Amino acid sequence: MLIVRNSFLPGKRYAAINLCGVLFCRRDTLVTPVMINHERIHTAQMLEMGILPFYIWYLVEWLIKVPTPGRAYMRISFEREAYRHEHDLDYLSHRRLYAWWPLQWMRKGKKKKKKNKE
Ligand SMILES: [Zn+2]
Repeated sequence: MLIVRNSFLPGKRYAAINLCGVLFCRRDTLVTPVMINHERIHTAQMLEMGILPFYIWYLVEWLIKVPTPGRAYMRISFEREAYRHEHDLDYLSHRRLYAWWPLQWMRKGKKKKKKNKE
């Protein structure tokens, strides 16, 4: 993954941003294998759905979730997948296509609820 260190991207509140598979981070950002893995997961998501549709979906999902309780960013489907698997540095070798798809999260949630009832 190409990493571009600079003084203005991303904004000060964020450590890094993945734009079209290129990781932009501030000069003082500690870039870890986990961070790179997280961003590579986003790159895989971009490649499977197309870069522009990825960003449109990301923005729309964020806008839908902003008015709901909690931090909207953390509940975006792409982020949920990336955060859930960022510590598995081998994740991309066995990742299913469209693993970020929101209905999968809903199904998993139902399974957990069923398990809890048993
Ligand atoms: Zn992310």
